[in-house]
Amino acid sequence: MLAQEVTKRKGSRGPRKDDRMATPLEAMTATLAPKTTEYKFGGPIGATISYFVLPLIAYFVYFACRRDACDLTKIASSFRLPRDVNEWISVESLGVVVGFMLLQALLYCIPAGKAVSGSILRDGSRLKYRMNGLLSLIVSVGVFGALWYYRQPVTFVYDHFLEMITAVSIVAFVLSVVAHSMSLQRGVMLSEYGNSGNFLYDFFMGRALNPRIASVLDMKMLIFGRFMLIGYILAGLSMLAKQYETDGKVSLPMVLVCAMQFLYVFDGLYFEEDILSINEFSKQGVGFLICYAIMVFRPILYSLPARFLVDNPVELPQMQIATILILEVVGYVIYRWSNTQKNSYRRNPDSESSKRLKVLKTARGTNLVISGLWGFVRHPNYLGDLMMHLAWCLCTGVGHFMPYLTFVFLLLMLIGRANQDDADCRKKYKLDWDTYCNIVRYKIVPYIF
Ligand code: NDP
Repeated sequence: MLAQEVTKRKGSRGPRKDDRMATPLEAMTATLAPKTTEYKFGGPIGATISYFVLPLIAYFVYFACRRDACDLTKIASSFRLPRDVNEWISVESLGVVVGFMLLQALLYCIPAGKAVSGSILRDGSRLKYRMNGLLSLIVSVGVFGALWYYRQPVTFVYDHFLEMITAVSIVAFVLSVVAHSMSLQRGVMLSEYGNSGNFLYDFFMGRALNPRIASVLDMKMLIFGRFMLIGYILAGLSMLAKQYETDGKVSLPMVLVCAMQFLYVFDGLYFEEDILSINEFSKQGVGFLICYAIMVFRPILYSLPARFLVDNPVELPQMQIATILILEVVGYVIYRWSNTQKNSYRRNPDSESSKRLKVLKTARGTNLVISGLWGFVRHPNYLGDLMMHLAWCLCTGVGHFMPYLTFVFLLLMLIGRANQDDADCRKKYKLDWDTYCNIVRYKIVPYIF
C-alpha cells in the first residue's frame, strides 16, 4: 500500500522511465524522510531574511518599551543602543537561562505523571510523553519563592532583560544546532516541512520531527511545555518582585496580570495532553523557527504587560477592572470549553457527550463538529485566547500602545494560523470543507473575520 502511494506520488511529478513499484528503501525514505514539496515563509530567501528579522523584532520590543521610554510617538529616541558589550550579554544571564533549562529538563525526566501517546506519526508509531508539567510548574514557582524568601536576586530577569534576550537567543540557537545535527543521524524521522535539501531553509524550518536527547528528553516538550510556559510565569514574577522592591507594594494591575497569566499556564499544563494534537507536534520539525519563536519571542512579548507596569504604575478605574475581569472570565470559558469539546470529540467520538454534538460527516472519516461554539466560528478557541490576552494588556491602562504588542502579536499569529489551518483542512477534507465553511462562515469573529 505504502509502496504504491510512493510510486503514485513520484509518478505525479512527471512521466517515469520505468513503471516499477518503489523498493523497500524508497518506501522507507518516503515514510521517514519525505522531501519538502512546498516552501513556506518565502522559501530559502524568506528563511534567510528571518534569521535577522526575528532577533531584530525581539530587541525592538525591548528598546521600544523600557524604563525611560515606552511611547510610540517617541520611538526614535528609544533606540539609544548600549555601546558596552557587557550590557548585551553576561555570563550570569547565560547561567540563569542554562540553569533554568537544566532544571526543566531534570523535572521532565522525573518519572511522575502518566505517560500519554502522541499523534499517530507517518510510520504508524506513536511517541510516549510524560505528563508532569504541573509538577514542574509547582517546583519552579516554589524555587522562585524560596529564592525570594532568602533574599536572592529574583529581580534579575527584570534588571538584566537585555542580557537575558541575548542569552535566551544563544541557547535557542544552540538547541537548533543540536536538533539539526540529530536529524543527520540514520533512521531519524524528518519533518515534511524541513527536508528540501537547502540547508538555510531546512535549518530554519526544522529537519528532525521529534528529536529526543538520550531517548527520554523530548525537545518539543521541553521548549513548548516547559521553557516557554513556565519561563514567562517566572519572568512575570520577577517583574512583580521588582515592583515590590521599588514601591514597597504590589499594585492591583500587576496582581491581575500575574494571576491571569498563571491561570493560562496552569490550564495549559493541567490539560497538557492537548498540546500533543497541535500541528507543531505532528508536522513541524525542531529548527531555528520553533526555538526562536517559542523560547525568545513569546516570553518577551507575554511578560511585556508586567514589565511595563514596573516602570509605569497605573491606577485602573473600576469600570476597567470590571471589563478586564469579564473579558478574562468569558474568554477563558470560551477557550476551555471549545478546546475540551473538540479534543474529547477527537479522542472519543462515541462517548455520551460526543454523541450529543451535531457533526458534519466527512469522506475523510473524521467528522467536524458544527454545534455549540464550533457552530459559531471555525476557531472559537482562538477567540477565547485573544480575549484573555486583551484582558492582560488592559491591565496596563489605555494610555500606551506598546504593551498592547502582546495582543497584536497574538492577533497576527492567530490570523495567520487560521488561514493556514483553513488551507490545510481544504486539502484534507476537500469538498466537505467547503460545505463546512458554508455552515460555519467566519473563522474567529462573526461578521468580521
Ligand atoms: P485548533 O485547536 O483549532 O485545531 C485545528 C484542527 O482541529 C484542524 O486542523 C482540524 O484537524 C480540527 N478541526 C477544525 N475544525 C474542527 C471542527 N469543527 N470539529 C472538529 N475538529 C476540527 O488549532 P491549534 O492547534 O492551532 O490551536 C490549539 C490551541 O492552542 C488553541 O486554543 C489556540 O488558541 C492555542 N494556541 C495558542 C498560542 C499562543 O501563543 N497563545 C499559539 C498557538 C495556539 P483534524 O480534522 O485533522 O483533527
